[in-house]
Amino acid sequence: MKRVVIVGGGPAGLMAAKSLLDNDVPVLLIDHFNYLGGQLVKQTHKFFGSKDQYAKYRGFEIANNLVKDIKDHPKLELMLSTHVVALYDDHLLGVYNDEGYHDIFAERIILATGASEKFLAFENNDLPGVMGAGAIQTLMNVHGVLPGQEVVMIGSGNIGLIVSYQLIQAGVKVKAIVEASDSIGGYLVHASKLRRLGVPFMMNSTITKANGSEFVESVEIINLKDQSSEIIDCDTCCIAVGLSPSIQLASMVDAEFKYVRELGGDVVITTESYESTVKGLYVCGDAAGIEEASSAMMEGAICGLHVAKSFGRSIQTELLESYESQLNELRAGPFGHKTTIGLSKLSGGAYVK
Ligand SMILES: Cc1cc2nc3c(=O)[nH]c(=O)nc-3n(C[C@H](O)[C@H](O)[C@H](O)COP(=O)(O)OP(=O)(O)OC[C@H]3O[C@@H](n4cnc5c(N)ncnc54)[C@H](O)[C@@H]3O)c2cc1C
Repeated sequence: MKRVVIVGGGPAGLMAAKSLLDNDVPVLLIDHFNYLGGQLVKQTHKFFGSKDQYAKYRGFEIANNLVKDIKDHPKLELMLSTHVVALYDDHLLGVYNDEGYHDIFAERIILATGASEKFLAFENNDLPGVMGAGAIQTLMNVHGVLPGQEVVMIGSGNIGLIVSYQLIQAGVKVKAIVEASDSIGGYLVHASKLRRLGVPFMMNSTITKANGSEFVESVEIINLKDQSSEIIDCDTCCIAVGLSPSIQLASMVDAEFKYVRELGGDVVITTESYESTVKGLYVCGDAAGIEEASSAMMEGAICGLHVAKSFGRSIQTELLESYESQLNELRAGPFGHKTTIGLSKLSGGAYVK
């Protein structure tokens, strides 16, 4: 029997581990990659936010710092390259790795499993060359492999904009950024940079088809206002249309959910301490609603403190308050508005900033 198992070693899981270890609670941290850091490892750009959440550092540098904070702690046990494939009643986890399948019981479980990419339905969306933005980032920034030479980006949220910029930095031509809405979804500072580099934005538009016999050779884009269409030659079509919380494990034990569009889809209902309706099962970070790495860090830190408290540890109240106020500050920014509405819907209107 383990004291606490954290599933997911991204910013939320790493900060949850830190809070627990700082309070002398043993942690087993599991991730299906062979490295820690989650999404941060792929982020080569400098982060915004405040210096408390490592603003101005690049994502992979933030990951290194978070890992450095915990990696030598004697009460930390790590299982990398390990998939948590099932969650049963009574806090039983089914895990699979090179040594095969085995069961792990835990007194408390924290799910910090992050998010998965949304996809789009269009003709030939299974042609090689149609990829999610996360896959492109992994290819380029983790493995040093270019996805193609000419990319059409679908989606102008922060991920679409940042990945477009990273593609250009890697020498790939971004032929257009296609956006269904009439306004850019991400930070205007990123969009302006791309405009200055000559990337056209096609607003009120979407993809209807990828053409090619064995791989993508062009894409068909339709203007949703006047129905005009255009074919753009390219070898890669990148889909960056949002993320959904990874809630599969929580759904296996009947944790209660609510659909909240602003938080990315189905979200696990939790208390202020991030405990789900299943006692002893906690959810934080993107898995608890799509936000950003800075908020995932704070949520993980707060969740870890609450779990430590549930074992009778006398946690530092000032630290908890400081994390909570940092999280509120992050959500007070221009992009926090959507989250605030989402959290309010999730709590039935009870959430107050
Ligand atoms: C292109 C891009 C740019 C971004 N830019 C910024 C930015 O500038 N600023 C910012 O604040 N945020 C940014 N973000 C968002 C940020 O990366 C995420 O919000 C953040 O990483 C979420 O943290 P997390 O710990 O909840 O999840 P993740 O970082 O996704 O970590 C989840 C971890 O869980 C593991 N896992 C999941 N399921 C299992 C399982 N069943 N078994 C074992 N392991 C599992 C995964 O392997 C992963 O390591 C960006 C994201 C992207 C994609």
